[in-house]
Amino acid sequence: MTDAPAARLAAFLEQLEGERPARGVTVIVVTKFHPAALVRELAAVGHRDFGENRHPEARDKAAELADLDLTWHYVGQLQRKKARQVASYADVLHSIDSTDLVDALEGGEHPHDRPVRDALVQVNLTDDPGRGGVAPAGLDALAERVAASSALRLRGVMAVAPLDEAPAAAFERLARFAERVRAIEPSADWISAGMSADWREALQHGATHLRIGTAITGNRPAGG
Ligand SMILES: *Cc1c(COP(=O)(O)O)cnc(C)c1O
Repeated sequence: MTDAPAARLAAFLEQLEGERPARGVTVIVVTKFHPAALVRELAAVGHRDFGENRHPEARDKAAELADLDLTWHYVGQLQRKKARQVASYADVLHSIDSTDLVDALEGGEHPHDRPVRDALVQVNLTDDPGRGGVAPAGLDALAERVAASSALRLRGVMAVAPLDEAPAAAFERLARFAERVRAIEPSADWISAGMSADWREALQHGATHLRIGTAITGNRPAGG
């Protein structure tokens, strides 16, 4: 079974090794639309970081796999109304893109009983506001808001490459946005960028967290 997810994960990690990144790189396996059994299979060979982009699918999977010591990364667009629910199971929120969202995460009852979550500010690398992420002009203010938040720990930036631009050029811009965020919070040195098709370019421009779906999981089941 050379195309089992565990074999594809091993092959991917070998390719990553071949690129000789000069720093530690976290591979997040994005398992959206795939059953919990696939996550369990990859956990069995020692993988710990998994990503999901939709609530409640993410919540259900995290609950079903609560016996495993996994780190869940929420990489999808976050709705203000659902944000606190997502933060109840997601260890890392990759898609903080507005101060409203930070307000929502800090609100509600018993805020001090909730874990402080790692957070990345998502930057929109396109001119289309519908693509998610804060526009570069609003980046510094949002990063300052997250850095000051009692609900979040600012870790860095996240982005998705535009469809109509070479990914390397977009990730080069992202690296400069990451520098701006580090000027606000020096420890916020994570760059979440790179998917199955463009992870090498992301790596070349400083990505510390790759979000890999289909290259490891195989094609998403119907509907994905
Ligand atoms: C699905 C998804 C990925 C993984 O995409 P692949 O092309 O399957 O590797 C990465 N990031 C986000 C935000 C996603 O929604």
